[in-house]
Amino acid sequence: MPAKIANHAVPGRVSFWLLVLLLVVTSPALLATPVLELDQDSGKTPLVGQMEMLDVSGNGMSLAEVQAGLHSWSLVNDRRISMGLGHFDLWFRFRAHNASGESLRQLLEIAYATIDYADIYVLDIEGNLIRSHSMGDRLPFRERPIEHHYFITPLEWPAGATRDIYIHARTTGAMELPLMLWSENAFIRHDQNRQMLAGLYFGAMLMILIYNVVMFFGVRERSFLYYVGLVLCLPLFVASLEGYAFQYFWPEATAWNQRSIGVFLTLTITFGLLFSYDFLRLGTANIGNLVRTGTRLAGGLPIIMAATVLFADYLTMLTTVIVGAVIACSIPLLLSIYGLRTLGAAFRYYLMAWAALLMGGIAFAGNRSALLPQNIITENAVQLGSTLLVIMLSIAMAARLNQQRRSMYEAQLAALEHEREARQARDDALQIELKAKQELEAKVDERTRELKEANTALQELSSRDALTGLHNRRHFDEQLVREYVRGYRHQQSVALIFADIDRFKEFNDEHGHLVGDDCLRAVADLMSECITRGGDLLARYGGEEFCILLPGTDLEGARAVAERVRERIADTEYMVAGTPVPLTISLGVTAMVPATSEDAQNLVKQADQALYEAKRQGRNRVITFEQPAET
Ligand code: GH3
Ligand code: MG
Ligand code: MG
Repeated sequence: MPAKIANHAVPGRVSFWLLVLLLVVTSPALLATPVLELDQDSGKTPLVGQMEMLDVSGNGMSLAEVQAGLHSWSLVNDRRISMGLGHFDLWFRFRAHNASGESLRQLLEIAYATIDYADIYVLDIEGNLIRSHSMGDRLPFRERPIEHHYFITPLEWPAGATRDIYIHARTTGAMELPLMLWSENAFIRHDQNRQMLAGLYFGAMLMILIYNVVMFFGVRERSFLYYVGLVLCLPLFVASLEGYAFQYFWPEATAWNQRSIGVFLTLTITFGLLFSYDFLRLGTANIGNLVRTGTRLAGGLPIIMAATVLFADYLTMLTTVIVGAVIACSIPLLLSIYGLRTLGAAFRYYLMAWAALLMGGIAFAGNRSALLPQNIITENAVQLGSTLLVIMLSIAMAARLNQQRRSMYEAQLAALEHEREARQARDDALQIELKAKQELEAKVDERTRELKEANTALQELSSRDALTGLHNRRHFDEQLVREYVRGYRHQQSVALIFADIDRFKEFNDEHGHLVGDDCLRAVADLMSECITRGGDLLARYGGEEFCILLPGTDLEGARAVAERVRERIADTEYMVAGTPVPLTISLGVTAMVPATSEDAQNLVKQADQALYEAKRQGRNRVITFEQPAET
C-alpha cells in the first residue's frame, strides 16, 4: 500500500525535481507552519492557532496542487470555522509531532454531520502520502473509518514522528468545521456524555410522542395530532442534522439524506403552524382575525419550502428552508405576544415554548459562530430548545384544556344562574297569580256573601207583609204544612186561630183607607204582644184577617190565646182624630192531632168555619170548632 501511494505521490522524475525546487522556494512558508507537539498526555487538542486554511472554492485543487506551496495559506485563529451558506471547497492542514518515545494514536473529529465530502490525507515530513480517508454524507455510511454520526478518523504517529495532516472539505450548504484532536480515552469519555444526552433527548421525545398519540386517541382533538406531528418531525430534523438519522435509518440513501433536513424542517414548521393556528384559534375571538391572516400568510412558507425541497438545488433549498423556519417561528411568537395581554395562562406557556425554541436557535447559532462560549448548553442548544418547546407546548395544551374546562364550568354556572333566575321569575309570577286568584276568590266570596244576604233579605222581605210587618200568607202556608207534618210525626196537637176585625168595611168607609191601614198596623202590634211563645206564628192572612199557628198546642190552650187577643183588642181604645173608636175582633179556633200528613188545609177550613160561627153569633167573641156530631 505505501508503495502504491508513493507512486501516486511522485508522478515522475522531472516532476520530482520540480517539486524539490518548489519546496525549496516555498520553504519559508512551510517552515512557518506551527508544529503541534503531542505526547501520551495529550487528551483533547483544539487545532486553533495550529491549523492553516486554503480556500479553493470555485477552482478545485488536488492534494498535489495545494501541496505545491504556491498558495497563501492562512492561519486559522477562530475557535470555530463557520462560513455560512454557499458552495465551499476548502483545504486545511496542520503538522503534529509525536514528542513521546512511543507510538501515539489520536482521533481527528469533525463534529459536523452534514459535510458533503471530507477527505483526510496523512503525509510524512517529506510530503509523502501515508494514508488517506474519504468521508462525507454523500458517501454510504459504512465507508467511514469509524462508524460514528460525526466524522472520526484514527491517526497514528510512530515514536518521534512528524506528520502533516491535510483535510479537504467540500460542501454545499452551511460550511462548518469543528475540528478536534482527541486521545482515544478522552474521546470515549466525551462521546459517552454526548450519546447519553442524545439518548435522553430522543428518549424524551419518544415518550412525549407516545403519550400524545395516546392523548389524541383519547381526546380526539386536532391540536394533539398537530402536536404529535411536531414531536415526530422535530427530533427527526435534529437526527438528520446531527447525522443520527443517516447512521440508523438510511445509511445507504445518500440522495435522500441530502433532502431529509429540508423535509423534516418543513414538516416541523408545517405542524408547528397548524398547531399554532389551532391553538390560537380556540377561545381567542379578539385576535381571531389577526391569527387567521398571520397563519394564512405563514401557511405560504411551508408550501414554498416544500417546493424547494422537492425541486430546487440543495443550496436554494437550504437557504429557503432556514429563512422560512426563522420567519415561521417568529409568527406564532409575535401572535402570542399580541395575545398575551388578553389571553390566559395557556398562552404564556405557549409563548415561553416558542421563546425557548428561539433561544435554542440563537444559542446554537451563537455557538457555531463562536460568539458564545462552548459548553454543554450551547453545544446542545437545539436539542435543549426543542425539548423545552415540546414540554412547554404540552403544558400549554394542558393549561388550555384547563381553561376550556373552567370556561365550560363558568358557562354551566351562568346557565344554572339563569335557570335559577327563570325559576324565581316563574315562582314570582305564580305567586302573583296565586295572590290575584286569592283576592278574586275573596272578592267572589264577599260578593256571594252580599248576594246571599241580599237574597236572605229578599226572602225575608218576600215572606213579610209590607203593611204590618207580620209574616205574609205565603210564609204562613209553608209553615202550616211544616208544622202540620211535624205534628203528625210527633202526634202532637197543632192549633190554628183565624181572626177577623169586626165591621172593618164600615170603619174604612167612615175614616178612610189610610186610617184603616193604620188601624191594621195597630191591631197587628197588639196581637204580636199577645203571641210570646217561640214557635208560634202570627201572620196576616189577607185583608183584615190574621191567623195564628200554634204548634204543640191543644184546643183549650189555643182558645186561651184567642181569648187573650180578643180581650186585648177590645180593651184597647183606638183613637181616631182624638176620638176613641170601638174596635173588636172575632176569632175562630181549632186544634187537632193530624191523622195524616196531607190535610193541613183541613185545619184552615175548620178555623175559618169557627170564625164564621163567631161572626154569626154577634162578633167580638172566640168560637172553637165543634166536630159535627156524628149522625
Ligand atoms: P165583618 O164584621 O162581617 O167581618 O164585617 P166587615 O166589614 O169586616 O166585612 P168584610 O170582610 O166584608 O169587609 C172587609 C173590609 O176590610 C173590606 C175592606 O174595606 C177592608 N179591608 C180589607 N183589607 C184592607 C186593607 O188592607 N186596608 C184597609 N184600610 N181596609 C181593608
Ligand atoms: Mg173579612
Ligand atoms: Mg171583618
